Amino acid sequence: TSQTLIAGNWKMNGLLSSIDEVRAVAEGSCDNAVRIAIFPPYTLIHPISQILGHDSRVVLGGQDCHYEDYGAYTGDVSAHQLYDAGARMVILGHSERRHGHKEPCETVALKVCAALNAGLEPIICIGETLEQRKEGLTHAVLSKQLRDSLPDDLMGKAFHVAYEPVWAIGTGMIATDDQIVDAFSLIRRVISERFGTDFKPHLLYGGSVKPDNAVDVLKLDGVGGALVGGASLKAKDFLKIIRAAP
Ligand code: 13P
Repeated sequence: TSQTLIAGNWKMNGLLSSIDEVRAVAEGSCDNAVRIAIFPPYTLIHPISQILGHDSRVVLGGQDCHYEDYGAYTGDVSAHQLYDAGARMVILGHSERRHGHKEPCETVALKVCAALNAGLEPIICIGETLEQRKEGLTHAVLSKQLRDSLPDDLMGKAFHVAYEPVWAIGTGMIATDDQIVDAFSLIRRVISERFGTDFKPHLLYGGSVKPDNAVDVLKLDGVGGALVGGASLKAKDFLKIIRAAP
């Protein structure tokens, strides 16, 4: 789908009492042109889905999943379990997984397959560090991460790629228009080389998207939406970003 997607990644934030924020988002958003997704911690997916019900404006997703369906993987959650709990999307390869949990691209690719098999729409994240950008390695890093994190059998599947420069996450330092447009054209090129030019991936930007800069990011050519961290935690801020969508 080419609809603008505004996705809120709560990361390791949120308690049962935070469910009110999701309710406020669902009730406060009336524009049908925007797709809204919230990625709460695992503990909140099912209680939120119970409260929102099936026809909610807000889609729920997990922040990661294991690539196996079940088994002896202490602390992990499978794509099937996420679906069962009410999730319909999943974030994969977030930089906090790649860096904080030493997660290699090959593992991300396996997770993408597992997610699609379970009926979840994946958001695959890529992004360079500040050091890599300073050394002129941005293109090399992004194309390698993207190539290695995408499985071969993606043709015709609904998935999103989120460009999240590591240095822009949680820093208040959003990437410039030129940096975003440049990264997006690279992503498009890598994907069309692999899957053909008819294949149009849905691209998101993430990294310090806030109510006051959302209009500018979302109006950029080719930006299909935003993956929002900190500013998705409060319904008031998140709704402003949702309303900023063109
Ligand atoms: P911030 O919006 O807090 O910078 O986080 C971005 C992010 O990592 C979303 O996945």
